[in-house]
Amino acid sequence: MPISLDRRSFLAGSAGLIALHPFSLQASSNQVHLRLMETTDLHVHVFPYDYYADKARDTVGLARTASIVNDIRAEATNALLLDNGDFLQGNPMGDYIAYERGMREGDLHPVIDAMNTVGFDASTLGNHEFNYGLDFLMKSLTGAQFPVVCANIAKEIGAGPRDDTTLLPPYVLMDRELTDGAGQKHAIKIGLIGFVPPQVMNWDRRHLEGNVQARDILQTARAYVPEMKEKGADIIIALSHSGIGEAQEREGMENASLVLAGVEGIDAIMTGHSHLVFPSSKYDGLDGIDVAKGTLQGKPATMGGYWGSHLGLIDLMLERDAGGWRVVGHASEARPISKRNEDRSITALVESDPKVLASVQQEHDETLVYVRRAVGKTDAPLHSYFALVADDPSVQIVSIAQSWYIAQMLKGTEYEGLPILSAAAPFKAGGRGGPEYFTDVPKGDVAIKNVSDLYLYPNTARAVLVSGAQVKDWLERSAGMFNQVEPGKADQLLLNPEFPSYNFDVMDGVSYQIDLSQPSKYSSKGALENPNASRIVNLAFNGAPIDPEAQFIIATNNYRASGGGDFPGAKGDTIVFEGPDTNRDVIVRYIVEKGTISPRADANWSFAPLPGTSVLFDTGPKANSYAEDVEGVSITAAGDGPDGFARFRIDL
Ligand code: MN
Ligand code: MG
Repeated sequence: MPISLDRRSFLAGSAGLIALHPFSLQASSNQVHLRLMETTDLHVHVFPYDYYADKARDTVGLARTASIVNDIRAEATNALLLDNGDFLQGNPMGDYIAYERGMREGDLHPVIDAMNTVGFDASTLGNHEFNYGLDFLMKSLTGAQFPVVCANIAKEIGAGPRDDTTLLPPYVLMDRELTDGAGQKHAIKIGLIGFVPPQVMNWDRRHLEGNVQARDILQTARAYVPEMKEKGADIIIALSHSGIGEAQEREGMENASLVLAGVEGIDAIMTGHSHLVFPSSKYDGLDGIDVAKGTLQGKPATMGGYWGSHLGLIDLMLERDAGGWRVVGHASEARPISKRNEDRSITALVESDPKVLASVQQEHDETLVYVRRAVGKTDAPLHSYFALVADDPSVQIVSIAQSWYIAQMLKGTEYEGLPILSAAAPFKAGGRGGPEYFTDVPKGDVAIKNVSDLYLYPNTARAVLVSGAQVKDWLERSAGMFNQVEPGKADQLLLNPEFPSYNFDVMDGVSYQIDLSQPSKYSSKGALENPNASRIVNLAFNGAPIDPEAQFIIATNNYRASGGGDFPGAKGDTIVFEGPDTNRDVIVRYIVEKGTISPRADANWSFAPLPGTSVLFDTGPKANSYAEDVEGVSITAAGDGPDGFARFRIDL
């Protein structure tokens, strides 16, 4: 069902706003209605396609968002289309251009091509624009038929922001003719200024150090906005590639949009970076935010989701008086391209714009070839058939890539030099997913689409700082995966069916055993059940018993680090690094960089021996061809399990 974008539905949908504001689409003379449209965090998603899964997806794609843009342009007299950054990286099409095809002189980057086709008026840089280096970025921007601004990245830092030699123009002043309610044209100077999180200096240190420097978003804004006013800007719109964040200002804020909205002279603010939607109920009741009015500190704001999921929209009513143009009414919304139904199915709300699809058809086809083709090799099979009972290559590769990445990210920080452990869980490990629901990438070629099999969720990388005691409790929490077994008894069922495999974190970088004769310290939901229980035995770091007081970094994901699964040491207050990169991207980079990967499981964990005791567990029937290779545990086939599973016996 297509979205109805006619005037009546806008008015009906905004009834509350109409009542609250002296705002009407019917501008009078001396009033202009200006619509500001925003895309943000496109991450190279032009086609409605998930290249990792190699499947069409109705939830993503600028080709879909463009249809909403077309409708709005058809109904509005005055409209601007703005992109808020993170367009150049973030899906296999971006990787294909960066790692395979390259950007030769004169090449047009496909996402820029698509953006030119949709007809953007301006854009700013997101943090991910730096992922492939400055040379790649600048070559890609050459093809843009719209200005790209960024105020807080400088090639040379001056005494103050206004003395900087910025990498790109900090802002643009666009002279536009807008039509008022009486059909009269008015010249208006529209100022657009862009900001990116200064954390890019850490996130892309290897590309940026020595080449550019970043400034605090708010200090930069306070320097340039008055200059834009001096130069005659009638209205100023901030393109803030930064989340909404907190009301309290701090130095170097990553998510600074709420504070930025309060900077005098800024009339409207486009936000992004955090891949959320504004206005939405997610922000109900927060200090300085009014979801019903769509404002941050009273200024109209929007955030258009990510990957083209929404079009952010701000309606401004501008009125001219003796002092110039000022905002006399506004409304904000974010229009989705799809909706999720109660049965979790997805309904597309718009069709793709065929011109936009056509602009990147060739690169889309090339990307399909790229994701289906080998980009590296693995010298061990990557399967998860035994991931719940032994150290396992499919989990090991995730751990290795995470530690590799976190070590780079912590370089030059106060945490450099601390031991880095890595926690990863098997996401596809049978259970309620059925007997085919396992990771299974054979030895040999690894294709990009295999990486989604290795890492199912679009999590982002995190590092937490914990004590040795917390490392042990983290593992105690994981060990709730198993039923308590009675020593000396045969064929007891091993796995607790209430415990999801994604909460079975295996920890790389330490060695340990799990004593199944003990009760679990934590319930399957993470509640402390048996405070004195200890299933984790012989926990060692560098071959010596772990020091409960020592400090460790654990590489993990945003879900775990912010409290997912309720793990000790991972309740959100131990995060020392928030990576902008998905764990999946980290694995792809690792494979591309290494060429051949050797994710051999090192049997750093196992079950503690319980002589005369055996347990049964069920896994996929394909496990039979790998059972002999599993190290650290004695496994024999034990016939068929229920529902198509194969049963195995472990002698403890
Ligand atoms: Mn992003
Ligand atoms: Mg290991």
